[in-house]
Amino acid sequence: MAETIFMKIINKQIPADIVFEDDLVLAFRDINPQAPVHILLIPKKPLSTLNEAGIADQELLGHLMIVASKVAASENVSDAFRLVLNNGAGAGQEIFHMHFHLLAGRPFSWPPG
Ligand code: AMP
Repeated sequence: MAETIFMKIINKQIPADIVFEDDLVLAFRDINPQAPVHILLIPKKPLSTLNEAGIADQELLGHLMIVASKVAASENVSDAFRLVLNNGAGAGQEIFHMHFHLLAGRPFSWPPG
């Protein structure tokens, strides 16, 4: 997979507003926030899409979701947040390093746009 901007953030080649990091995952604020809280959560392993993940990744992806809820707590938005993953260009994915968007701090409609 070609190196993405997210890989450059993981490798600290470009700056980001990091809110959580451990050996497996990184969470940082979206540069173009769509809500008062808009944080991206990524595995450090360069999976381009969720489709690329396999059984060997299930602990990693479970960890990513647990980290999402912990980040929501640290942002004081545990009561109402949305976790979004765009899988593929047709679903709106622009950066091909899989990521969750953690969005909170405003009302959300359903179905999503
Ligand atoms: P997606 O469309 O699901 O691939 O989401 C990509 C997200 O990455 C968008 O919300 C962008 O605003 C965000 N983004 C792009 N470049 C950066 C960056 N350097 N730092 C933080 N967020 C970024």
